[in-house]
Amino acid sequence: MSDKKIPYKIYLEESEMPTAWYNLRADMKHKPAPLLDPITKKPMTAEALAPVFCDELIRQELDDTTPFFEIPEEIRSFYKMYRPSPLVRAYCLEEKLGTPAKIYYKFEGNNTSGSHKLNSAIAQAYYAKKQGLVGVTTETGAGQWGTALSMACSYFGLDCKVYMVKGSYELKPFRREVMRTYGASVTPSPSTETEVGRRILAEHPGTSGSLGCAISEAVETATKHEGYRYVLGSVLNQVMLHQSIIGLETKTALDKYGIHPDVIIGCAGGGSNLGGLIAPFMGEKIRGEADYRIIAVEPVACPTLTRGVFAYDYCDTGMVCPLAKMYTLGSHFMPAANHAGGLRYHGMSTSLSQLRADGLMEATSVSQTDVFAAAEEFARVEGILPAPESAHAIKVALDMAKECIVTGEEKTIVFGLTGTGYFDMMSYEKFHNGQMTDYIPTDEDLAAGFARLPSIDS
Ligand SMILES: *Cc1c(COP(=O)(O)O)cnc(C)c1O
Repeated sequence: MSDKKIPYKIYLEESEMPTAWYNLRADMKHKPAPLLDPITKKPMTAEALAPVFCDELIRQELDDTTPFFEIPEEIRSFYKMYRPSPLVRAYCLEEKLGTPAKIYYKFEGNNTSGSHKLNSAIAQAYYAKKQGLVGVTTETGAGQWGTALSMACSYFGLDCKVYMVKGSYELKPFRREVMRTYGASVTPSPSTETEVGRRILAEHPGTSGSLGCAISEAVETATKHEGYRYVLGSVLNQVMLHQSIIGLETKTALDKYGIHPDVIIGCAGGGSNLGGLIAPFMGEKIRGEADYRIIAVEPVACPTLTRGVFAYDYCDTGMVCPLAKMYTLGSHFMPAANHAGGLRYHGMSTSLSQLRADGLMEATSVSQTDVFAAAEEFARVEGILPAPESAHAIKVALDMAKECIVTGEEKTIVFGLTGTGYFDMMSYEKFHNGQMTDYIPTDEDLAAGFARLPSIDS
C-alpha cells in the first residue's frame, strides 16, 4: 500500500473498538511468578487479597490462562467519550528530521487526567461500584493516577481517598485541585492519619515522602475502613490487562493500512502503558506469528530494568503489600532529589520483568536532560507538549529515526505518547534555565538497595 494513503491520524470507528481486553499472560510460556504473602511467603490466594482489593479485580489479577476478558458495556460507554485515541503518523516530524523512517505514535493525553491512566481507573472504579463498595483509596506521585481515579470515582459515585506524595502535594497544587474538583480527598503522605505514616514520620521527620510510603498508607486506610478497597494505577497484572486497550486499538489501526511496525517503544515506570501497548504484538511474537523489536525506556536515575535485579521484593516501603518477583532496585530505593522526569518506582510489572528476563523485550535508559531536550524538539514540530515520562520514549524514537538518516533504513517505528506535561512546567522551567542536572546512581548506591531484598527460597 502506498504511503500517501495513510492519514495523519488513524482513527477507528466506534464499531472497530475493542470489546475485550487481552491478557498477554495467557500466551506467555513462562508465566510471571505469583505474588507472595509478605508474612508467610506463600502464594497469595484470592481470600487473602480480598480485604485489600475488589473481588473481580483479584480474579483478573490471578488469572494467567484466560486470553480475553470482555469489557463491560458501562466501561465501553465511558471509553467512547475519549477513545479511540489517535494513532498519529508523524509526517511533520519525519520531514523536519529528513528521515526515511516512518514514525507513528499512539497519543493517550486526550482526556482531562492527561494520560493513559484513565483506561484502568474507570475499570477499577466500575468493579468497586459493582461490588457495592463505598469508596477506594490510592496513592499518587506526580498526580496523574490520582486525577484519573477521581474522575472515574465521580462518574460512578464512589468516595475517593488519595494519598499524595508530600513533595508533589506541595509542588503541584493545581493537580491537587483537579482531584478535589472531581470530589476526591487528598492527603499529603506521610500523614499522621495512619500508623505506618506516623511510624515513617517518626523515623524520617521532614521527609517529602515516596510512592512506596503512600501505598502503605492507602492500603492501611482501605483495610481499616468498612466498604473500602485499595486500587493501584500501575505494576499489577489487572492494570496491564485494562491498558491492553492501547495496544489493541493500535494494532487494529495499523492492520487497517497493512502497516507492520519494526520497533515498538514505550516508557516504563511500573510498566502498565508499555505492557498495554505491546500486548497484542508480544502475543504474536510469542506465538511465532510475527516479530517485533520491543524496547522499554526508563530514566538513568531509576534504572529498574537495566540495572536492577530480578528477584522477589516488597512492592511498598512499609512492607505490608505482597511480594512480587520483578526487576527491582529494592523497596527503599528513592531516585535522587534532582530527578524530575517521573518513572520513579523501584519495581516493575511482573509480566514485563519476565518478558525481559526471557529476552523478549529490550530495555534502555536515558538521562533527564536528554529527555527534556527530546520533549522540546518534539513539541516544536508535532505541537503536543509531552509529559516527561512520555518523552523517554520520544528520546529513543528520535535517536532511532536519526540513525535511519545515516543508514537509509526505512524503519517503521511506533511509540507510546502516554500524556501531556502541563503540570510539569516547573521541570521544563529548570531545563530551560539550565538548572537541570543528571544523577546516575553509583553501583554502591544500588548495592545498598539490593542488600535489603527479602530472602525467599524457591
Ligand atoms: C504514570 C505515567 C507513566 C508511567 O506509568 P506506567 O505504568 O509505566 O505506564 C508514563 N507516562 C505518564 C504520562 C504517566 O502518567
